Amino acid sequence: MHYDYAIVGAGFAGSVLAERLASQAGKTVLLIDKRHHIGGNAYDCPNEDGILIHLYGPHIFHTNSPDVFSYLSQFTEWRPYEHRVLASVDGKLLPIPINLDTVNKLYGYNFTSEELAEYFKTVGEQVDEIRTSEDVVVSQVGRDLYEKFFRGYTRKQWGVDPSELDKMVTSRIPTRTNQDDRYFTDEFQYMPLHGYTKMFEKMVDHPNIHQMLSTDFKEVKDQLSFDELIYTGPVDEYFDFCFGKLPYRSLRFDHQTLDTPDYQPVSVVNYPNDHAYTRITEYKKLTGQEHPKTSLTFEYPQDEGDPYYPVPRPENAALYRQYKELADEQTGVHFVGRLGTYRYYNMDQVVAQALTLYKKLVGAESLHEVA
Ligand code: FAD
Ligand code: UDP
Repeated sequence: MHYDYAIVGAGFAGSVLAERLASQAGKTVLLIDKRHHIGGNAYDCPNEDGILIHLYGPHIFHTNSPDVFSYLSQFTEWRPYEHRVLASVDGKLLPIPINLDTVNKLYGYNFTSEELAEYFKTVGEQVDEIRTSEDVVVSQVGRDLYEKFFRGYTRKQWGVDPSELDKMVTSRIPTRTNQDDRYFTDEFQYMPLHGYTKMFEKMVDHPNIHQMLSTDFKEVKDQLSFDELIYTGPVDEYFDFCFGKLPYRSLRFDHQTLDTPDYQPVSVVNYPNDHAYTRITEYKKLTGQEHPKTSLTFEYPQDEGDPYYPVPRPENAALYRQYKELADEQTGVHFVGRLGTYRYYNMDQVVAQALTLYKKLVGAESLHEVA
């Protein structure tokens, strides 16, 4: 069969584009994924005990974009959820992002917000130009808090020192002088009521969308017939690594179920300094599910394995630019998503990027028709 579009990858990027192209533009779409399921890294499923878990680590939806939120709301109801994380430091479980309570409980101080702001000024280091992930943190909260909360975690997570990573990595985590202990402050913070996979199923349930799962595009591309290709896999792999490999950081997920209803006080506890894992997630606290047992995931960062995180460093950005130039020269091939554009994007940013590409694709077509 001939398709208007072949889409490689059924994560957020691929599924949003499949949905838009099929339901809004009347296109026929072949949606291909090498995994046995849709949803990409946001895939969730009930485990053998019937507890909903995220196979690729905890995914919490948050956005400031009303457009992204209302777009996704067509495919799911939501459960209000504000994410709170504790970090295990010096034998205590303390709020992260660092806030007033973090500092007071860690050091036994009794600062007010104003006093904490003054304290940060005295301990914060003078950095002329903030370039790295170390600069961001030491300039705001000083070396001791940096060492306790950021240095070890970042070295584990990325396999390099924060001083070798772009500032955007630790800039994701704010510093607060008030008692706000939410991980995110976005306007929309929810979990899909019945899970991500159910949302994806509804998104791609259209007669014009054919799914081809458990299939690597490389293996079948010569047998497919399509006009345009949308590629959401790793951009360097598409071009057979012609400029060299783009570095990605991977994770090993250790999923466990315990015969106890409750394990930790919040859904995610970070371990910046102890253990080989970075964090433990307890899913029932994300999803609100009630169950006599509880399921956890321990995340062990590693170099090898599925590509989960583009690594933001100047040399990697330069290498990506070479691939981007090549990508821009292709006709009828569009790269999108976290791997397709080598960007450390959250889910909502990927949805926004896919919606933008959709507009470009239909815009280009209507221009063509006018001409
Ligand atoms: P993906 O979901 O990676 O989808 C790409 C798909 O392409 C994959 O399914 C892959 O199998 C397929 N593919 C690749 N190559 C081929 C090929 N050759 N042939 C066939 N198929 C192929 N974001 C948030 O907003 N909040 C969070 O809390 C959050 N937590 C995260 C936690 C972890 C551990 C990770 C790794 C990411 C997290 N993210 C989070 C980011 C989020 O996962 C991504 O932004 C989003 O899933 C990216 O969607 P995508 O479609 O670009 O890529
Ligand atoms: N980070 C840290 N300590 C923490 C939490 C985060 O050092 O307790 C740093 C670390 O480098 C991490 C980055 O901040 O990779 C971004 O954290 P985030 O929770 O956004 O990571 P993600 O959920 O994308 O893995």
